[in-house]
Amino acid sequence: MNVILLGAPGSGKGTQAKQLVTKYGFPQISTGDILRKAVTDGTPIGKEAQKFMKAGELVPDDVILGVIEERLKEDDCKVGAIFDGFPRTLQQAYGLESLLKRIGSALDLCVSLEVPDDKVVTRLSARRGCSECGQDYNMISNPPPADGRCVKCSGEIIQRTDDQEDTIRNRLAVYRRQTKPLQDYYSGRGLLSIVDADGSPEDIFTKVCSVLDDHDKE
Ligand code: AMP
Repeated sequence: MNVILLGAPGSGKGTQAKQLVTKYGFPQISTGDILRKAVTDGTPIGKEAQKFMKAGELVPDDVILGVIEERLKEDDCKVGAIFDGFPRTLQQAYGLESLLKRIGSALDLCVSLEVPDDKVVTRLSARRGCSECGQDYNMISNPPPADGRCVKCSGEIIQRTDDQEDTIRNRLAVYRRQTKPLQDYYSGRGLLSIVDADGSPEDIFTKVCSVLDDHDKE
């Protein structure tokens, strides 16, 4: 199954995607994670993406589609994928369609996670993560240990540079302008399911799973 998780930054796409991977066995394809690794590794893609990411702007479509094209060639994607943070523009949505077609596959669902803006700003300002293993933390709901080291791997716990309030507001504006129109696109194709994501991760996961399971029964 190929599923897109759509939603504003901080709507919980990454959290839900990780749980879906465990339950259904599809790989998570997070363009944000791929780009952050490219920035850390200092690759040409990372160097190009860095300035856009720092400002909370979108990385150009051709760069993103190149990244997805390479990722879809990997064997684990043969069973499908959970797309987290991709597509974010109509051009990316068209690109995804033709890339999937090329490998004899197609999109099954677009699940849009809906959270009010003020909740998103609170969630993202409190978000922290391990710089080594990626373990998620949150200063309100899941604070890291006092020594600032990850419980899993002792790595350093950090705040993303784009999780500062100014950048968060810009990312939200970018989402509304460039990404939210994808709802209409996928709704028109009969692929959209909207999930109220203003709740606990467990409750949201139950709702997302029922959308996937209902689709699977069709
Ligand atoms: P995320 O981790 O999904 O919030 O993404 C972090 C940043 O990476 C975004 O603010 C963008 O600068 C960039 N990015 C991630 N995915 C995409 C995408 N599909 N299209 C363009 N830029 C992206």
